[in-house]
Amino acid sequence: MNILVVEDDPSVRTLVKAVLEHNGNSVHAEDTAATGEKAASEGDFDMIILDLGLPDGDGYEVCKSIRDKNITTPVLILSGEQETDVKVKCLKVGADDYLTKPFNTEELIARMEAIQRRTESASDQLLSCGELKVDLLKREFSINNEKVQLTNNEFNLLVYFLKNKNKIITQEELAEKVWDIHFDTQTNYINVYISYLRKKIREYSDVDYIETIRKKGFTFRCE
Ligand code: CA
Repeated sequence: MNILVVEDDPSVRTLVKAVLEHNGNSVHAEDTAATGEKAASEGDFDMIILDLGLPDGDGYEVCKSIRDKNITTPVLILSGEQETDVKVKCLKVGADDYLTKPFNTEELIARMEAIQRRTESASDQLLSCGELKVDLLKREFSINNEKVQLTNNEFNLLVYFLKNKNKIITQEELAEKVWDIHFDTQTNYINVYISYLRKKIREYSDVDYIETIRKKGFTFRCE
């Protein structure tokens, strides 16, 4: 895993980094709320270990703000604070677990593995293409964190596109896989639904993701 550790206490930071690296992870460490939040927003991490008491702010606020940005990276909070209130507050803003200092490093690893098991099944339910995000479980679609309302047909079409990014998809394939019917060249409904979906995406984005390939079909362009 690629792990972000945000901890200002050098002894704890060094220990956590060494233990995680020893377990085969790569670790990026930060020691302030501001740099930690920046790294969490810009980096591609599998997990964030976050201290609550940071010199320039509260880990709680960091967690809240990354969740507000729809960053779903699992967060494990480290804190000397034993109060139940504090733990509850952290879990409520989207932390996945809480470990009280001083802690046993074996417990840290075990808790991280438990978080990973819990979140892996949830991440299967997410599809994305840059600013576009689909939550299959909630059947929600958002662009730049703004929710976009789609009809069932538009949603199913988008899901098929996101599962087959950058491939040429024929109208026949869409008819069969999305609508479960045999394609009839006399009808135009696939083009109609594609134009609806394209229009809704363009209301929130400058990018034209759906490319029409003449006489072949369509490609959902995704970097
Ligand atoms: Ca601290």
